[in-house]
Amino acid sequence: MCTGVPSLSRISDPMETPSAMASSWNHLPFEFLFCLLLLLQSSVVSSASPSQDSKSASRNFGSEHGAAAHEVHCSRERSRAASKIIAEYLTPFLEKERYQLSENCRLHHENNLYRDQEEHKMHVDLNEWKCGYCGKRFYEEKYLDMHFDNRHYEMLNVSHVKCFADLCGALHCDAMMDFKPQKSKCNPAAAARNKHLCESLADNCFPGNQGPTAIRLHEFFLRQFCDAHTCKGGRKPFSRGRRKRRSVFYLVISILVLMLLPVLYLFIYLYQRGIRRGSQELRRISRTTQKKKPS
Ligand SMILES: [Zn+2]
Repeated sequence: MCTGVPSLSRISDPMETPSAMASSWNHLPFEFLFCLLLLLQSSVVSSASPSQDSKSASRNFGSEHGAAAHEVHCSRERSRAASKIIAEYLTPFLEKERYQLSENCRLHHENNLYRDQEEHKMHVDLNEWKCGYCGKRFYEEKYLDMHFDNRHYEMLNVSHVKCFADLCGALHCDAMMDFKPQKSKCNPAAAARNKHLCESLADNCFPGNQGPTAIRLHEFFLRQFCDAHTCKGGRKPFSRGRRKRRSVFYLVISILVLMLLPVLYLFIYLYQRGIRRGSQELRRISRTTQKKKPS
């Protein structure tokens, strides 16, 4: 568009005399003036406010990683639900058996695309979420999620390109996410598909050739997650239970009781002492009144 324009170096050439420059300016086409305006406008945009700058930076970042960004189609929310389910309904049983999942198992935390970002999420207060990478604070978790998407994209574990949300069918994420039970009838095809995925996870993560512990956990996994994938009803997921929190609750209660017991004893002691003193004083008063009566 600006092909017929004299170069800027020519205009600003220090060797050129003022008269020569004036004659060249007289011959400038309107197109050049238009281009000059465009240049000025672009320089104004480049020195814009930091917020605009950050937006453009994030856009540039997005375009740099655009190809990869479009390849990632993985729900953060559902990945989080799957991760919670594993932590709550599977990990305690693995810890009990001292069983380590292999990285080939899709349930292994390394296969969670959002693992690093989620670990850098700090819930400081009820309405305060903090980014563990840069320290920015947000009112809601969803804004921190958006911040992660825009500013810390590089922390996504894209090398594995495995998505925990894809396991949601097998792991009953809807139950975890408090979704209202669907009014539509159970879909036998979907249930069969989820059951197949569930069983393949069991085979993959707890192979029979890994010894008795793996065989036990394979059985456990089928009962805990896979049995409920049926339209016959009556079977609920997580039938084998969850992480026990009572132990922590009881520990806190017992510490509180131990701390409050001496206070209670002191209170009872002081109370009884007060009663004893009161009764002694009453006796003394009654004696003095008895002695005074005969006079
Ligand atoms: Zn940050």
